[in-house]
Amino acid sequence: MKIPTEIDSKGRWVILIDHHTLSTYNKCARKYYYYNQCDSLVQIQPSIHEAGEKILEGSRIQQLASQAKFGITTKGRFRFKTQVGIWWSDVMSALYEIIAKGKTPLLKDCLEIGSMLWLKHDMNSYAIQTPENSPYEVKNYEKFCDKGFVIGNLGDVTRYPVGPFNMVNDYFKERITGDVGNLKIIATEAGFGLKREIYVGENDYVVVFWVGKPDKIAMDKHSGEISPWDHKTVDYISKNFNEQWKPHPQTCGYVMATNIIVNNLGIDKKVNKCIINGAARLVPQKITPDYRGRFERVIVKYTDSEIEEWKRDVLKKVTRLREDINGREDFRIINQSLHGEEFDLQRIYNPQHYVQQESSCHLFGGCEFRPICSQPPEFREQVIKSLYKAKEPWEPYYLNEED
Ligand code: SF4
Repeated sequence: MKIPTEIDSKGRWVILIDHHTLSTYNKCARKYYYYNQCDSLVQIQPSIHEAGEKILEGSRIQQLASQAKFGITTKGRFRFKTQVGIWWSDVMSALYEIIAKGKTPLLKDCLEIGSMLWLKHDMNSYAIQTPENSPYEVKNYEKFCDKGFVIGNLGDVTRYPVGPFNMVNDYFKERITGDVGNLKIIATEAGFGLKREIYVGENDYVVVFWVGKPDKIAMDKHSGEISPWDHKTVDYISKNFNEQWKPHPQTCGYVMATNIIVNNLGIDKKVNKCIINGAARLVPQKITPDYRGRFERVIVKYTDSEIEEWKRDVLKKVTRLREDINGREDFRIINQSLHGEEFDLQRIYNPQHYVQQESSCHLFGGCEFRPICSQPPEFREQVIKSLYKAKEPWEPYYLNEED
């Protein structure tokens, strides 16, 4: 998300921010800049990249190009497993929308939805490019994408990969009937915050609102408790799976925001937990203490004092973000609009104001911006032009006209 949204009459930056954007900033301010303030950058594909290599000349640039190519082999585009997570999230939304309408999805409905979304996301093209590091993973993902499963007649296409079918089939058997009986779905994929309804806090420098989109909000029919849900995919549900969600910026933000949403809907309920609906992409070979089955639900609870602490921390982090961009010396700008004469937009678009956090460069398989940051500042613009292209900055959701 681009920042700030506006500057108020006291010179404070009004900032709408979501978990994804703030987490990126916390990992590395420079990475936040590349994703959000500098038009969002993605590395170009290897074939185009090779063309770029030809354009570049000189030993330093060639060295650069080979570094970038290394980056591309592991991080060039969404990895297949990430894409499976996006597909699965859409499958879950479609299934729970049926339940929200008071209907019970049949196995046939679930498989059709899974297949249609598989095709819609063009998943097989990602599967071909699966560049996983471990031969064990490659073998398993090959199995996941094995073609040859024949089902019914869905238009012209009758053959689908086995893995996604099994994943949907397993979920149907383990979860759907129980969920139909136990859950009242209040909303699926309901974005919140762009209308500034989720206030976090303010100080002399910033006014902060939270933005997000939980996968669903549901009420337990027996206890009457309401919770936001998030669907997560992992290779396997390991013994540590339950411990990853607290402390966690996303789960606490969901609980805080759902309280306000529920209140605004006129429902007199307190929300104090978030549910992580975990699914393993790969079939566990056998259930052991390390591998616990294919699906797992984790309840993550927060007290009021924990939520207050989280809000204070968010306010501090966002204040620091403004400081990174704006600098301490002109921290207070009175009565400026974003496009006002005295407001220095160049600071927002100057990477030098975003600190490099080098301890993050190696995380998650290596940062995709290493080919840029590993070069002297005067070379970076050329690297960006040659090896990257811009995409729209991340937005958690968009407001419809009727919203
Ligand atoms: S390469 Fe390192 S310093 Fe550069 S954006 Fe990525 S994490 Fe930040």
